[in-house]
Amino acid sequence: MTAIVPDNLNPLEPGATLGVLGGGQLGRMFSQAASKMGYKVCVLDPAENSPAAEVSAYHVEAEFDDELALSNLAQVCDAVTTEFENVPADSLRFLEDKIPVYPPSHSVEIAQNRNKEKSFFKDHNLPVNSCAAITDASQLELAFKTMSGKAVLKTARFGYDGKGQQVCENITELQTAFESFGNVECVLEDFVPFDCEVSVVLARDVHGNIEAFPVVENQHKNGILDLCIVPARVPEEVQKQAVLVAKSLAEAMNYIGVLAVEMFVCDGAVSLNEIAPRPHNSGHFTMDACNYSQFDQQVRTLAGLPVARIIQYQPAIMYNILGDLILKNGFEWQALQQLDNSHVHIYGKAEARIGRKMAHANLLGNEVDSLLASIEAVITN
Ligand code: AMP
Repeated sequence: MTAIVPDNLNPLEPGATLGVLGGGQLGRMFSQAASKMGYKVCVLDPAENSPAAEVSAYHVEAEFDDELALSNLAQVCDAVTTEFENVPADSLRFLEDKIPVYPPSHSVEIAQNRNKEKSFFKDHNLPVNSCAAITDASQLELAFKTMSGKAVLKTARFGYDGKGQQVCENITELQTAFESFGNVECVLEDFVPFDCEVSVVLARDVHGNIEAFPVVENQHKNGILDLCIVPARVPEEVQKQAVLVAKSLAEAMNYIGVLAVEMFVCDGAVSLNEIAPRPHNSGHFTMDACNYSQFDQQVRTLAGLPVARIIQYQPAIMYNILGDLILKNGFEWQALQQLDNSHVHIYGKAEARIGRKMAHANLLGNEVDSLLASIEAVITN
């Protein structure tokens, strides 16, 4: 892969302003990491109040495709990043003409569409399970025949946390699902009878150096990430494979910034599920368990600093606190905050709703089973 030669290889000095597209919790934690390093942050988000704007120096309240607002952002900021993948690629390109934008628009564009993502994996000989692009209901039957008898239909764009996807076991179910998604472009994936799911969060800097965080074991509930265990309880050989695949992918993309790579582990082999061109929920453990967090790395790569070498101080679990838990009778933050070596990060969202990510707790300790037991005791009480 040819080395990246950006226009400006001088890191940004403290006092510079970093822009972030999106005002959610990932933007908030990016902003907190940036201010620790002396940078100011400007958030672009259409909402009057947002978790990120609450803790940032500036807020441009506008839609993500508002050219005047994007021009203002480019004037105020020295570099821009994004905290979600569905920001219009045209907006990133518009900004790219003016200031450094990491991750680059071409990477974000691939991550925005599951079919582009899958084609990229295949084109670069990266491991991926059987799948097919579906743009018309007539393609479903043939595609399903090439699979194992059970498949997952997913919308190509805008799916998250299990939304826009359906497990199907016959053609009638598939046709119903395709119609219920509004006949939009989809991908049909063979159902993977995985042993576990893992992710690798890594950072790649403007010089092409890559540093990966330890491999994370992910457990989902109702399509939403519930719990992470780090290091993942998989053989070392599988961990090595996962890191190698993630690094090869970042290099093939000429990626700059923080990249999350989600994978299935099946019979000792990893295969790619999807990528996120940003810090990821499964990387939240880094905030307390490592010498640098994924948000520190996002700031560093955006500011043109080299990626930091990563050390994990202690094993960790990360538990996602959804609105469901907060709305439960008798829920008390203190129960979580009083657990031994527990770090609760609250996102400042005004209203708890079912399925809404409100906070997360990182628990550190050498005995993962006892960490799991203590979190279980709090959430079932
Ligand atoms: P995704 O939005 O693609 O990350 O999917 C959400 C979750 O659904 C994944 O983390 C898996 O637990 C499950 N899932 C997605 N795709 C498949 C598949 N092809 N086979 C089995 N489970 C899947």
